[in-house]
Amino acid sequence: MSALFEIHDLTVDVPLESGFMGMFKMAQPKLNILAGISLHIGAGETLGIVGESGSGKTTLALAMLGLAATSGGDMHFDGAPLGNRASFIALRQKTAMMFQDPVASLSPRMSVGALLYEPFIIHGKRVANRRAKVTALLEQVGLPPEITSRFPHELSGGQARRVCVARALALNPKLVVADEPTAGLDVSVQGEVLNLMGALKAELGLSVLIISHNLAMLRHVTDRVAVLYLGRLVEVGATDAVFTNPRHPYTASLIAAEPQPDPRKRRHDLALKGEIPSLFLRPKGCEFHTRCPHAQPMCQTTAPELRTLGEGQVRCHFAETLKLNKRSEHYGMEN
Ligand code: SF4
Repeated sequence: MSALFEIHDLTVDVPLESGFMGMFKMAQPKLNILAGISLHIGAGETLGIVGESGSGKTTLALAMLGLAATSGGDMHFDGAPLGNRASFIALRQKTAMMFQDPVASLSPRMSVGALLYEPFIIHGKRVANRRAKVTALLEQVGLPPEITSRFPHELSGGQARRVCVARALALNPKLVVADEPTAGLDVSVQGEVLNLMGALKAELGLSVLIISHNLAMLRHVTDRVAVLYLGRLVEVGATDAVFTNPRHPYTASLIAAEPQPDPRKRRHDLALKGEIPSLFLRPKGCEFHTRCPHAQPMCQTTAPELRTLGEGQVRCHFAETLKLNKRSEHYGMEN
């Protein structure tokens, strides 16, 4: 599978208020949000990004689209380098972002018809028959043409999400970036939206990047997953392999934290301890050691590299020897 989007050693730092440090010409402090991310999305592939709040998932998506300033590294889309303003303007015609809250991401003053036509106006594209184009987009996502004159507050959550999908497809993108595409939707509507996205992906050959906390959903719709912790990748691999045989303790803990049909089958030994540390106080050594149930003395002093293991990548000194795959029946693993 050829790579559509390539990211190499991407870093995002946010400068902090310098205060008196500026007066004394001391170096301006920075908050390191993303640290050396290298990742690719294949043509026609669905990649999931998972991690707790504060892990850097959304910043990664924004940086990829040129909506967050990067401090280092490089990115390529379809073989062309991204970096200057013109390259990101060109990129935005070939990518679409679906935001987390469908109703909030749609302007309340615009009708559905105007919302679906807006991408053409923004990118200066002429459409011969505006009404036919809007109707075709609605049909593509299973919505009736009568909905054209409605406003966002008159839509159900599922309809609003479908309008967002239609808007995302308007300019025939190659890549769709979806931030929590099922958040706030009933389980039955979640299934409908995911089935729709799956069908459109197969029909149009799209690549999809999904950012989500919902591991059960990611397991069913992604080809690969990448796990972020404190702005660093800690595990990347094929979805089935990661869910059936997680190699990083953090991944295993996230899977263990998912709701279980039988609460007695929860793996308490894998439960995450405490909160994600502040980016202001990144732990030394392995940054996960303060919460890791398998931490050893060397984990407090020596940072593990992201290295290839089997078909995937993992950032843990002891990934070969840890027994993390003895999971509950909920994920179809051994007890
Ligand atoms: Fe846990 Fe150590 Fe592996 Fe880090 S390197 S994940 S602390 S066992």
